[in-house]
Amino acid sequence: MLKKIRKFDRKTLLKYLRATGKRQAELFELARQIKEEVFGQRIWFRGIIEFSNICRNDCYYCGIRRSNAKQMRFQMSLKEIDDCLKFIKSADYGSVVFQSGELTTRTFKNQLLEIVKLTHKKYPNLGITVSCGEQDFAYLKKLKAAGASRYLLRIETSSRKLYKKLHPREMSWRKRFECLKNLQKLSYQVGTGVMVGLPGQTIEDLISDLKFFVDNKFDMFGIGPYVIHKDTPLGRDPKIQKWWQKNKEKNFSIFLNFLAILRVLLPNVNIAAATACDVFDPLGRIKVLRIAGNVIMPSVTPKDYRDKYLLYENKPNIDEGADKSFEHISNKIIQAGLKPIFGEQGNSPFYYQRIYG
Ligand code: SAM
Repeated sequence: MLKKIRKFDRKTLLKYLRATGKRQAELFELARQIKEEVFGQRIWFRGIIEFSNICRNDCYYCGIRRSNAKQMRFQMSLKEIDDCLKFIKSADYGSVVFQSGELTTRTFKNQLLEIVKLTHKKYPNLGITVSCGEQDFAYLKKLKAAGASRYLLRIETSSRKLYKKLHPREMSWRKRFECLKNLQKLSYQVGTGVMVGLPGQTIEDLISDLKFFVDNKFDMFGIGPYVIHKDTPLGRDPKIQKWWQKNKEKNFSIFLNFLAILRVLLPNVNIAAATACDVFDPLGRIKVLRIAGNVIMPSVTPKDYRDKYLLYENKPNIDEGADKSFEHISNKIIQAGLKPIFGEQGNSPFYYQRIYG
């Protein structure tokens, strides 16, 4: 199985992407062993601050798309962000992730630069990840010089055809890909990912996604299941609503298989367990951490803003603060026999191999 997966044998990949029961258990066991050979039972923590939901993009699946007039908008102040950083420090998370909608205005860029500078100056040992959409080369260079060492930008799907169906005309797959390449040129640790279970996505598309990940040598992955949101073009379509409800369990199972195969293909990359997993199963993220993931990103976004950063429906933990999110997930991790790691950045071993050979 291992050799055939690594050779990208199409029949084998189809078989394991669709696997259930005994075959699925075999795949999970292989992925778990491979993951533990590299990372043991260790799980690294990154505190994620969702500091603004203002977005210029209009993705057909996303709740914070610019055309969703029902969504109240917010932008956290530097003081509020600083308070989140204090929590991250007290909880001893080794890294922070700054995430927001995508903006390319001068004001936004300056604010983000300030945030990164402040963080790096006050907490020089904290790993800094940025996830704020497509930005130009010169600006990404400035962010790096200010202290950001990682950038997360999901390609969303490797299929240009599907990308076109999910985004308005002004958004370009090629531009997003170029941004990922620029991040690599700037020696960031580069993370990408897709959504699994998108309307119109085929099993063949998922195989192409896996090939795309391997061919382009990414260091980290944030991959999540697609979750419907009623105030989006996809979520308003009754056919998609029906399809999503009917297929959600099957799609979540394919999602888990996809991550397990990714771990088999790339033993030493960082794989995060996405919050969206808990929409399908209260132990969704833990399942991912058992079989493939080595990174967890508990939210440290203040309670007042959590219900305004709704990319999808039924987002878990929106009524709890950073301390509760921390407590819940670390307890679950320990109960699952895994080991939470604090005070360490948990950089991607694949990155060091890519940069230094
Ligand atoms: N603006 C940044 C960007 O474009 O990369 C970061 C924020 S963006 C909202 C973060 C991710 O949320 C997207 O890359 C997308 O994969 C995910 N997302 C958006 N809507 C979703 C949905 N309905 N279900 C699952 N994930 C979703």
